[in-house]
Parts: sequence; structure tokens; C-alpha cells
Amino acid sequence: MGEVTLKIENVECTYGTTRILKNISFEIKPGDFVGLIGPNGSGKTTLLKSISRVLKPRVGIVLLDGKDVYTLKAKEVAKKVGVVPQETPIPFQFTALEIVLMGRTPHLGWLESEKERDYEIARTAMKIANCLHLSDRIFAELSGGEKQRVLIARALAQEPKVLLLDEPTAHLDINYQEEILNLLKRLSGEKLTILAVFHDLNLAARYCDSLILLNQGEIEAIGTPEEVLTPENIKRVYRIEVLVKRHPITNSLYLIPFLTSNPQTDACDDFTVHLVCGGGTGTPLMHSLLKQGYRVTVGAVSTLDTDYEATTYLNVPVVTLPPFSPASDDAHRIHLELVGRADAVVLTDVPIGWGNLKNLEAVEVALRKGIPVIMVGETPFEKRDFTGGEALERLIRLKDEGAICVKSLNEVLTVIETLRRSCRACRGKSTQKPLSEARGRPLEAFE
Ligand code: ADP
Repeated sequence: MGEVTLKIENVECTYGTTRILKNISFEIKPGDFVGLIGPNGSGKTTLLKSISRVLKPRVGIVLLDGKDVYTLKAKEVAKKVGVVPQETPIPFQFTALEIVLMGRTPHLGWLESEKERDYEIARTAMKIANCLHLSDRIFAELSGGEKQRVLIARALAQEPKVLLLDEPTAHLDINYQEEILNLLKRLSGEKLTILAVFHDLNLAARYCDSLILLNQGEIEAIGTPEEVLTPENIKRVYRIEVLVKRHPITNSLYLIPFLTSNPQTDACDDFTVHLVCGGGTGTPLMHSLLKQGYRVTVGAVSTLDTDYEATTYLNVPVVTLPPFSPASDDAHRIHLELVGRADAVVLTDVPIGWGNLKNLEAVEVALRKGIPVIMVGETPFEKRDFTGGEALERLIRLKDEGAICVKSLNEVLTVIETLRRSCRACRGKSTQKPLSEARGRPLEAFE
């Protein structure tokens, strides 16, 4: 395929007197797969329209290989730019093959009909887009995903150098999503330049070389997924808190929304739950409790621990241990202080070895002080003991001495809610002076 650069310079678009796009400038090199992202109404479709010669910018130019598309003939542009729109109302009873053949129109002369070669190209395009088997089906009767693949085939039949797609995976199930995006990725590897609107930021991060983030008609950020998909950018544009993580298998970024709106009428921030966890066993509970408005503390976990990582994202006060080391006397003392301030202590079904055995001591102290202790999990005690019997003995004793044993996260939440309701007297604890020495995040939550 030939190589075409797409350059947008200072584009401004209006509908009537309403300005929709402003100061839009960027360049896409041949073979780049660029994702256009942004909230609903931010101007993504309008931008695609301005590039595909549907909506002439009021200001600025769109250059295809250095030539202003609005000075080129529509047919010339259509030979270079294929468009897969979001919605295509096709009222007549065209078959899928006939729809794809329409992609050949820019290549035909005035009143010229399609030749065998055009049929060949259309069939090849359908094969590539995995819809050749739909050739004789009526387009209007196809499912959303089938229609999408036919429309991609139509755009490919134009033999374009640039492909513009408006939400190419909108109607596709996960299998076809993967298939279409892998196809687009492959085509971009063959020097087809692709600009596609994405709603799914995780898919955009996975497949695109770079991203353009639009916000209220302007470019908020442009660059690699790492540069664009920062929690700060996402919060500013989408008004939502996200964690940005790297997938352990695909190595691409993915976003997880968290602590979103929590319309609690009955605030729970007068109740502190301390989690004794590790190895990620506390993270879902940490998240659920915070979401419901509880105060949460965590201890003592290693700085290599997944639960520790969660405390840093969720801004939870935590007592930390150096990697692979048991708690020092200092850390243990701080942990005991933290436990002493809790209204309830939850021990997850974390495995217990010599490194975290002292954590059980902290739970025992809580129980002795009359702080309710909830032990959660279905793993039998003997399977969690990596101390040759010591941990097992202590776990059994905790249970015998009154720890509440529950199996699921939901059950923990129910028990905690019951405790909170019946323990209004515990409220005064939150006014105690904050701990100053705890490692990890300072304990402002107690101030
Ligand atoms: P996005 O694709 O990011 O959801 P659009 O480009 O479709 O955003 O729309 C951007 C803004 O332009 C929206 O406020 C939308 O209501 C407005 N808009 C879109 N099409 C038209 C139109 N034909 N006439 C007037 N306003 C429009």
C-alpha cells in the first residue's frame, strides 16, 4: 500500500454558530494506528467528518500528503480515505456484497459499472473482514456486528491509504472485537494509516500506537497511551478516579475506575476497620469498605505486597514491613497502636509464615481489648499455617476466644454494618491524636 501522511492544522469546526472544534493540530504518519478518545459530545465524530470532507472546517486545513482535502475532488479523497461511520441507514434491500461494491465507486468512471476486478477486490475485502459468507444476505437484516464487518469491508474495497473509523467495535461481541482490532492492527502494520474513535479506553490502550484525547472540542492530551491515559488526565476530562495499571500478560495499560460516587445517606466514617491481610487478600475488602465510607487501616504488610500497593492507590494508612522480613519491634508497636484505634479488626485468610506471625499477635491483642475480630475466608486453618503448627494453634484460639468467622466478603460487610449500628459509642475514638510514627502513608485519616 502507498504511504499517506495525514496532517491537521489549527482546525476549527462549527455547526451553525456553535463552535465544536477549536485549535486542533496533529499529524499521523503512515502506518500509525491512532485512537481518538474523549467523552460523549467532545467532538470526535465531528473531527472525523472534517477529515473525510463532510464538514469543512471554518478555520484551518486538513492535509493528505501535503494537499488540502477541500481542494481535491471528492472522488480523489474517496480513493485515499475510507470511512466506517457509526450509523449507516441503508433503506434499500442491498445485499452485503452490493454494499461492499459501493466502495469501488471512486475507482469507476462516469456511469461505468463494476468489472470482474472490482468484484474480486470486494470479495477480498470481505474475506479480510471475515464477512464473505454474508455476501448474499440483505444488509438491513444483518446483526450490528455483521453490519460493522461489511462496512469495514466496504471501506477496504476503496483501497484506501487512510482509514477513519467511528467506534469500530461498538456493536461487536468480545470475539469479533478482538478480531476486528487485530485486523486493523495488521493493516496498520501494512502502512494503512488508521484513526479510530474508541469509547473503550482499555481497548484503545491495547491496540493504538498513540492517542488523542479530546475535551470540549480541544485536544487535552496527545501521545502514547502512557502519556495520555494518566489518572490526572482521565479525572480532568471524564471526572472519574481511575487506577492505571499495566496488564501482567499483555503489558498494555488498563484503567480501573474506583471509589466512584458513593451516595451514602448514612455516613460510616465514624467507624474504623483495621485489616490484617497480605498477598492481595485484603484489597477487595479495602475497596468495598472505602466505597461505603468506612475508615480503613492496614497492617502489617510488606512493601512488595499487593495489598500494600492497594493502600498507596487508595490512600489508606498502613504499617509496612521491609520485604521478606518479620515485623521489627517498632513496626509491631505501631501496628498494635493502630489496632487499638480500630472499631473492628478483620483477619483475611492470608497464609501465615514466620514473616507475618506477629500480625496474629496484634489480632489477639484486639480480641483481648474487646475489639470485635472477624476472620474471613474459606481456606482451612491448617492450609494457611506455614509455621509448623504455631499459626494453626493461634488461629484456632482466636476462633475459640470469640472471633466471628465468616466466609465471604459480603458477609464481612454485613457483620461490620451490624457492628457499626450497635457501636455508636465507638465514635469518640476517631478524635484521638494521630500516630506520627507509622511508616507508609501518614495517618491524616485520624486527624
Ligand atoms: P462525539 O463524537 O465526541 O460524541 P460529536 O462530534 O458527535 O461528539 O458532537 C460534538 C458536539 O457537536 C455535540 O455537542 C453535538 O451535540 C454537536 N453536534 C453534532 N452533530 C451536530 C449537528 N449536525 N448539528 C448541530 N450540532 C451537532
